[in-house]
Amino acid sequence: MSEIDAIRTAILDGVTGDDIGALPLPEAVRGALVKTEEQEMFAGLPSEEKDPRKSVHVEDFPLPELAPDEAYVAVMASAINFNTVWTSIFEPLSTFGFLQRLGRESVWGKRHDQPYHVMGSDASGVVLRVGSAVRNWKPGDRVTVHCLHVDDQDPSAHDDSMMAANQRIWGFESNFGGLADVAVVKANQLMPKPAHLTWEEAAVNALCNSTSYRMIVSPNGAQMTQGQAVLIWGATGGIGAYAVQYVRNGGGIPVGVVSSEKRAALLREMGCEHVIDRRAEGYKFWKDDGTQDPKEWLRLGKKIRELIGRDVDIVFEHPGRQTMGASVFVAKRGGLVITCAATSGYMIEYDNRYLWMNLKTLKGCHFANYREAWEANRLIAEGRVHPTLSKVYPLVDTGEAAYQVHHNLAEGKIGVLCLAPEEGLGVTDEALRAQHLDQITLFRRH
Ligand code: NDP
Repeated sequence: MSEIDAIRTAILDGVTGDDIGALPLPEAVRGALVKTEEQEMFAGLPSEEKDPRKSVHVEDFPLPELAPDEAYVAVMASAINFNTVWTSIFEPLSTFGFLQRLGRESVWGKRHDQPYHVMGSDASGVVLRVGSAVRNWKPGDRVTVHCLHVDDQDPSAHDDSMMAANQRIWGFESNFGGLADVAVVKANQLMPKPAHLTWEEAAVNALCNSTSYRMIVSPNGAQMTQGQAVLIWGATGGIGAYAVQYVRNGGGIPVGVVSSEKRAALLREMGCEHVIDRRAEGYKFWKDDGTQDPKEWLRLGKKIRELIGRDVDIVFEHPGRQTMGASVFVAKRGGLVITCAATSGYMIEYDNRYLWMNLKTLKGCHFANYREAWEANRLIAEGRVHPTLSKVYPLVDTGEAAYQVHHNLAEGKIGVLCLAPEEGLGVTDEALRAQHLDQITLFRRH
């Protein structure tokens, strides 16, 4: 039996602690990766034609040496994020530039600068080894991994670890990410695996859930209060579906935007009463590539007033170029537009008069600091926020899974099985699972 099969079998058999730590490590493991030699392969093509199924390879790569503050994690399951899409279509930049910059930072950083980039910014699994400086984790621990890759040597990180000058997203701006059989993580990325979830349900949350937590709940984001109304673009998507849960949990009023009747029905099942089907309404915020149509912003604003009787306090913004003009317009006087992305284009245009004359705020937000990621994981672990897993692919089909996200073909999150041989494994708290089964499996059933 190969080393990796022995590791998989031991985990499935419930082997723990030192017995896991004693298992020999493989020299090379499978990972979903892109290659430097192919980074120009889509040059000149429109974004929609750049196909992750052509650029993503699932191949063995050598396991790098472990730094003192790191851990090897046997990855049972991982997830697709939009950053997996960006890496695999080399947009807006090839991520090899990020790896080269990290490579210049330190001796340990140099390991990341390879002619391949192992992607993936989410994982659930089991700790195999820890470096000599790791205190709080040991082999055999069942974990989920958040993607904040930063060290605490930078004083600017001490209030908010997202503020560190060397803050990176693991598996996007660093190598050896979660879409692999073994991942290399900083120990401070580790969090306890929610016991009531399967490996794949536990793997899909950390990146999107923590981002939405910071955007909606945290003082670093909107810090929404009771009764505030929040317009959520892509409300059944990766980050949107967690945002809906946070708004509801915090006593807010979500107004969810989606693009099909199927998604509208799913959103209502999530308890989001106010739903806008942007396709059915036929909004056309841009007349052509260079000209927006303020009448269409007004039409959206009227629709919101019809639904909730007033304007929204907060807009949860991420589509970017296509929607930002409308987002700035529909936020109430004194309201907040909080943005973490620009899926449809990052050269944004909005009418600044609506911002300043109405005393609105436009605020940038990015992932989550350690405390926020930990809090967001705690809420998942207690069954107060639920995974939004809708589809599962094996690691070998990572390219197809990324294609699905790129083309807006899936709701919620897509999970990827790495060492887990099938779905449904890894649950150790059946009672908590039974209590929330309907919500945990909602996206999978749709
Ligand atoms: P998903 O693809 O899962 O969901 C995005 C949703 O946005 C879709 O479901 C779609 O919903 C909606 N959408 C897409 N295009 C448009 C458009 N032109 N106008 C209006 N709505 C649109 O992606 P994620 O939610 O995971 O990520 C969204 C963005 O946020 C990505 O760009 C990602 O890179 C970024 N992101 C940033 C993070 C950060 O830390 N800064 C963290 C996580 C994500 P529908 O068609 O139903 O309306």
